[in-house]
Amino acid sequence: MKRAKVNQNINLNDYNDIWVIGEQREGKIHPVTIELIGEAKKLAGEINKKVVVVVAGYEINEEVNKLLYYGVDKVIYLSNPLLKNFSTDGYSISISNLILERKPEIVLVGATSIGRDLGPRIAAKVGTGLVADCTMLSIDPEDKKLLQTRPAFGGNLMATIICPINRPQMATVRPGVMKKATHIDRPTGVVEVVAPAITEADIVAKVVKIMKSSKKTVDLTDAKIIVSGGRGVKGPEGFELIKALAEKLGGEVGASRACIDSGWIDSMHQIGQTGTTVRPEVYFACGISGAIQHLAGMSDSKYIVAINSDPAAPIFNVCDLGIVGDLKEVIPAMIEEIEKNKTFEI
Ligand SMILES: Cc1cc2nc3c(=O)[nH]c(=O)nc-3n(C[C@H](O)[C@H](O)[C@H](O)COP(=O)(O)OP(=O)(O)OC[C@H]3O[C@@H](n4cnc5c(N)ncnc54)[C@H](O)[C@@H]3O)c2cc1C
Repeated sequence: MKRAKVNQNINLNDYNDIWVIGEQREGKIHPVTIELIGEAKKLAGEINKKVVVVVAGYEINEEVNKLLYYGVDKVIYLSNPLLKNFSTDGYSISISNLILERKPEIVLVGATSIGRDLGPRIAAKVGTGLVADCTMLSIDPEDKKLLQTRPAFGGNLMATIICPINRPQMATVRPGVMKKATHIDRPTGVVEVVAPAITEADIVAKVVKIMKSSKKTVDLTDAKIIVSGGRGVKGPEGFELIKALAEKLGGEVGASRACIDSGWIDSMHQIGQTGTTVRPEVYFACGISGAIQHLAGMSDSKYIVAINSDPAAPIFNVCDLGIVGDLKEVIPAMIEEIEKNKTFEI
């Protein structure tokens, strides 16, 4: 496929619309797409722009149509058998050529494993910058540029970054950080099907086989209840208690990075700045001190319960209910109470 040329002398006024790069895996739209649509709609309202979702794939028409029910103006469906499964080359060439042709002003990408691969490659191909792992996006009220905020210096300060001279303004956002767009009954948007002219030769790295991990995966981003353990659980066996409470409540198990670094539990359970960002209905922080990097991933939880033996632990400054005590005594007492009452409503 012929690569479109990067134009260095750009006129900022030529750029319009806010694009969300939608993500699909095995034909199913990833929830981060809906979160990015929610954020794109918020930004679009401030600068009076249209929201467009771009999804690459093949034979996923039904799933693509569903995106209109989140109130977007348009879905551009890049349809080609070579785009059925994600490939860095196929996706980045198809999407960057579309960007160079249509000139969106803002492009949002999910900071998933696919998005982290795709985002920088698109940015390089179209000759712009990219701010990775943003936790907040807003519009500068004066010059209408995108303000892209993310933690910097180990989470000790928040940096707001702008892209002043190149376009589009590109950002990745981690799953679970932004609120999902609301579902609507009567969509007014349209789907445009575009067939990118990519060939086998464009895709240098070939997908030979897709193998699913045999590990049980944890769904932290969509969990309503999360019970997390920290260094206060004292070892891998301490997580048995955390798992028992999570099971009783129908929740998932989370952990602080200290436990992952000590090899007590798999990294897929890590919550925080370098782990997963969560916003459950109830978050139990058990034996977790409340370091800023941990708070970065869970402080938007609706209701936070902290169990800690140190009454001065910083977690008590952010929790809704604080229990000062030894988790080895408090958690079994909670489990006993739940078993007695057989109810736990949220
Ligand atoms: C760049 C960078 C990124 C990071 N990213 C993350 C991240 O994504 N997620 C993350 O979690 N951390 C992250 N960290 C690490 C973070 O700074 C903290 O070191 C970590 O969160 C501490 O984990 P903790 O609270 O479990 O351990 P500690 O800080 O050691 O706290 C243990 C707590 O357990 C309590 N306790 C002890 N015994 C008991 C008991 N029997 N019953 C009840 N309470 C008890 C103690 O009072 C204490 O408050 C990051 C650090 C850096 C520099």
